Amino acid sequence: MQILNSSTLFLLTILLLQINSYAETDDVQIVRGQLACVQLDETGKAHVSKEFTDCSGLLYLIGIDGNLYSLHGSEEEIEKIKQSSKSRMGYRLPLRLKGKSEGHERAWHLYTPSLDLEDSSTKTTVTGLVLCVFPDHVEGNVYPKVADDPCNEAEPHAHFIHTEKGEIYALHGTLEDIVEIEKNPKKENITLEGTLRANQSGWIFYVQ
Ligand SMILES: [Zn+2]
Repeated sequence: MQILNSSTLFLLTILLLQINSYAETDDVQIVRGQLACVQLDETGKAHVSKEFTDCSGLLYLIGIDGNLYSLHGSEEEIEKIKQSSKSRMGYRLPLRLKGKSEGHERAWHLYTPSLDLEDSSTKTTVTGLVLCVFPDHVEGNVYPKVADDPCNEAEPHAHFIHTEKGEIYALHGTLEDIVEIEKNPKKENITLEGTLRANQSGWIFYVQ
């Protein structure tokens, strides 16, 4: 049974890789994976859920391609994606999402095709707690964690900032800028300068 499962998965992976390689010739690509929502409870603690009707925080796509993406799109598109992420008869098929990806292994973002990124020319500062988001590709899930050490030597992972105002923003920026945040042993009360992008369905803070 185990052998059968492994070989089925192997064939499925080959098939998906082929689909992905065709899609990558275009600007818009297909990314497959499981969806998880990270949101804050009343006490400000970050929680992950795979079964959700609403997500007031950030959506993450744990990609079959091995990348962890924060997901951003128009409110209409995000709503449709959330509806399609229900498990059926106890089994959850990976989603197949169309979009544009941007970033690097420490900050991948996936944008749905019609997302109009807001004008990001206005610089602003945000202050808050930086959390690491580790992917679990086997479970198709994510684990937010407050690191009390530099996290630049940990496996590649994503980050978000939980601001003093109670918002959560996925962090984006050049690899150098992200690694600089990771090298800082302090993750609390951090002030970052940059621009705010995307929308209510999932904000991005682009560190500059
Ligand atoms: Zn980290």
